[in-house]
Amino acid sequence: MAKKSVLNAKSMDFLEKYLNNAAPTGYEWTGQKLWMDYLKPYVDEFITDTYGTAVGVINPDAKYKVVIEGHADEISWYVNYITDNGLIYVIRNGGSDHQIAPSKIVNIHTKNGIVKGVFGWPAIHTRDKSKEEAPKPDNITIDIGAKDKAEVEKMGVHVGCVITYPDEFHILNKDKFVCRALDNRMGGFMIAEVARLLKENNIKLPFGLYVTNSVQEEIGLRGAEMITQTIKPNVAIVTDVTHDTTTPMIEQKKEGHLELGLGPVVAYAPAVQQKLRDLITDTAESKKIPFQRSALSRATGTDTDAFAYSNGGVASALISLPLRYMHTTVEMVHKDDVENVIRLIYETLLQIKDGESFSYFN
Ligand SMILES: [Zn+2]
Repeated sequence: MAKKSVLNAKSMDFLEKYLNNAAPTGYEWTGQKLWMDYLKPYVDEFITDTYGTAVGVINPDAKYKVVIEGHADEISWYVNYITDNGLIYVIRNGGSDHQIAPSKIVNIHTKNGIVKGVFGWPAIHTRDKSKEEAPKPDNITIDIGAKDKAEVEKMGVHVGCVITYPDEFHILNKDKFVCRALDNRMGGFMIAEVARLLKENNIKLPFGLYVTNSVQEEIGLRGAEMITQTIKPNVAIVTDVTHDTTTPMIEQKKEGHLELGLGPVVAYAPAVQQKLRDLITDTAESKKIPFQRSALSRATGTDTDAFAYSNGGVASALISLPLRYMHTTVEMVHKDDVENVIRLIYETLLQIKDGESFSYFN
């Protein structure tokens, strides 16, 4: 029997709006407002902090606190230097990929709104074929159609303006979602859907649930580092994206075998609390939710690390969504995986008992 679809027309409508809005690292508030508007009917109250992290809380008076978390920010660029003839050099804000920049249209965010530009690239005709150069941060520039530096400044563009790509949401072959910033808009979306399902199914959790959309993950887990001190949770289930490894030029012996459509990816890493992780995989097995495994040496590189190593140690786990072409403008995920991550987080929450210590010693 086919499982009933988790996503409905209203959730898809929200996802599209949420994705098509730019929320670069350090400038996440417009996305956070969209996210809180959608989440509002499903939570009791919100916490927001100084840097823009937003948390929807269910049962705010409960002593035992469980976080489900994704990150709100997307990678972008900064205007770094403007040449006399009006071309713009950039630096990264997060792990933006210089290799995909040439020929992309960009949005430069200014006080007076968006200024359009393009990453130009020398024509194939004028390049020296004997020594083809790859796009690098020091040879890619943005052209906004200005004749010189003075005109760039007149258009409202200055050093420190943030730059995003305008690429929007598409669905390929009915079940593949494609967009820039699926990393990690999908995380914020999936945890909001968990809150919606809890409300719609009339679930009364025995603990406080903190649905957390952290800022500034892409530059080193900074939003999670801040909010974990504010919430002081007992448990944190983090969701982020991870690499599908079935497309060209990825070494599976090194990166492991992970594939779109085969289910959520459960992480094995020192930062992951083993008993919490076992609860997740046991839940997946008993509820017949497919999942894949991934081993991570040292850090997970996700907000999991920020929660795990805070407040004297918080039982943390990572459930990832497999994704192709990370940090490009055509990131791709499978709808079935999105639904199964939502199901797995939801079903795991139903298994967590009030006061559970996850101790290895009893
Ligand atoms: Zn990322």
